[in-house]
Amino acid sequence: MPKKSSSDQPRALADINEWYAQCDVLILGGGGAGMCAAIEAADAGASVIVLEAASDAGGSTAMAGGLIYMGGGTPTQQACGFDDDIEEMYKYLLMASGPNADESKVRLYCDSTLEHYTWLTEQGVTFKPEYYAGKHTNTPNCAGLMITGNEEAWPYNQHSVAAPRGHKPLIKGDHGGIPLMENLIRRATEKGVSIRCDARALTSIMDGRRVCGLIARIDGHECAFLARRGVVLCGGGFIMNDDMVARYAPRLVRGNYPNGNPNDTGAGIRIGLGAGGAAINMHEGFICTPFYPPGEFLEAMIVDGNGQRFINEDVYHGRMGSAILDRPDQRYYLIIDSRHFDVLNRPPNGGYPVAGTGDTIEELETELKIPAGGLCNTLQQYNRFAAEGKDPLFHKAEKYLTPLDQPPYAAYDLSIDAGGYFAVMTFGGLDTLTTGEVLTIERNTVPGLYAAGRNSAGLPRCAEGYASGMSIGDATFFGRLAGRSAAANTQGLT
Ligand SMILES: Cc1cc2nc3c(=O)[nH]c(=O)nc-3n(C[C@H](O)[C@H](O)[C@H](O)COP(=O)(O)OP(=O)(O)OC[C@H]3O[C@@H](n4cnc5c(N)ncnc54)[C@H](O)[C@@H]3O)c2cc1C
Repeated sequence: MPKKSSSDQPRALADINEWYAQCDVLILGGGGAGMCAAIEAADAGASVIVLEAASDAGGSTAMAGGLIYMGGGTPTQQACGFDDDIEEMYKYLLMASGPNADESKVRLYCDSTLEHYTWLTEQGVTFKPEYYAGKHTNTPNCAGLMITGNEEAWPYNQHSVAAPRGHKPLIKGDHGGIPLMENLIRRATEKGVSIRCDARALTSIMDGRRVCGLIARIDGHECAFLARRGVVLCGGGFIMNDDMVARYAPRLVRGNYPNGNPNDTGAGIRIGLGAGGAAINMHEGFICTPFYPPGEFLEAMIVDGNGQRFINEDVYHGRMGSAILDRPDQRYYLIIDSRHFDVLNRPPNGGYPVAGTGDTIEELETELKIPAGGLCNTLQQYNRFAAEGKDPLFHKAEKYLTPLDQPPYAAYDLSIDAGGYFAVMTFGGLDTLTTGEVLTIERNTVPGLYAAGRNSAGLPRCAEGYASGMSIGDATFFGRLAGRSAAANTQGLT
């Protein structure tokens, strides 16, 4: 066997003379998608090996806030007093997935949302039946339910009825990924899944067009793993691969915080491409700038370097981040008046510096070097409409429309180069069917190859529409389907 395998050079089955291990279903990556695939494949009677490059399973899913997007009247929603409707969830998620939405995935995901909730609870995941009503990036307490996207914000609120659908596995604060992965890993292990850590998959093994195994590096040696029924690629996104980000998702280069684990290098995507798969939606990703909490800052005005508003300020932080990133040469300021000064000892989550202060708005305008009148006129117009509870230009919800008429004023600098937080992660990946089967550029399936989570292009498809919970929801649900499909593949090796 050559010393160094490369993802674009699959190894031929005929050249393998020694197997390190054999199984029915071989999974690359022990994160959310991989562990759900493993559990389902094992439940279908398959022997399963998970190859995990890190020294422990968990991946970015374990690092995550753990929010999972589910609705349609889950027991947690009902216990918190919320009605929800699968059709409303579908309308919302389809819009949230943007112009590149995969309608068939959105449809199946919504139709299966109650079943998926039940399945997760059967694996031991629990959600505290408590609703967190504040505007936050995750529930700061143990509450298991909150609104995690743009459901209440214009224009989404024009197209579907809002409901809280972000479900956090039980834990205090922003660490829901830990209990989620602890339960999934424990359940997979109980079912006999073999998790091989410190095993980095390098390339596929192919029998003609069929994928029938992987080469992985273990203790410095290249080892061949045979997969009799299928290989499932669940290696996460590629935000830690600077070269891939620059080539495929250059917009994300301007983010200053790669949101992921060190193995988010796109290895699974590259192995899938090497085996004949196609990748889609590679330019898209999540761009978060958490200008809240504190929730009071939704009452602020956010303006550009000309003092002009450009978006309703009550949007999800990912939509705000995307809007800022789209206009590269601008500066951005969050403008508050003295009524919000009491929250200054809790500055915005994103760590933005104070850009200026002024006893009057004119003074602040000068200090920010905004062209004369730009900010003053905007504030005057904003306050006039806010007093009437209206925002005819950008449609901010009435509950956040408080005139900013109590000087002095202050501004936070939300510009990308000012030191604030712009977290980015990728959404592009292998083109798959809802079954997880990987597609070629001609949309034929690659026999024996499946993908899920951020190795695939799933539900999360655009920065402007993303809501927290869509990625883990997608990874866990479509990971399950991919594991099930691989286990059911009767066309594999016998
Ligand atoms: C801090 C943070 C907070 C987040 N919060 C949320 C949230 O609340 N809700 C939400 O929906 N999303 C959230 N996300 C995003 C979400 O966690 C991920 O997009 C999602 O969990 C990806 O799941 P996955 O199974 O595809 O990948 P992962 O969970 O990352 O699993 C991939 C696994 O593959 C392994 N791997 C990679 N390459 C190889 C290789 N060559 N060989 C073997 N193994 C390999 C990795 O080590 C990893 O364990 C958050 C992300 C971060 C970083």
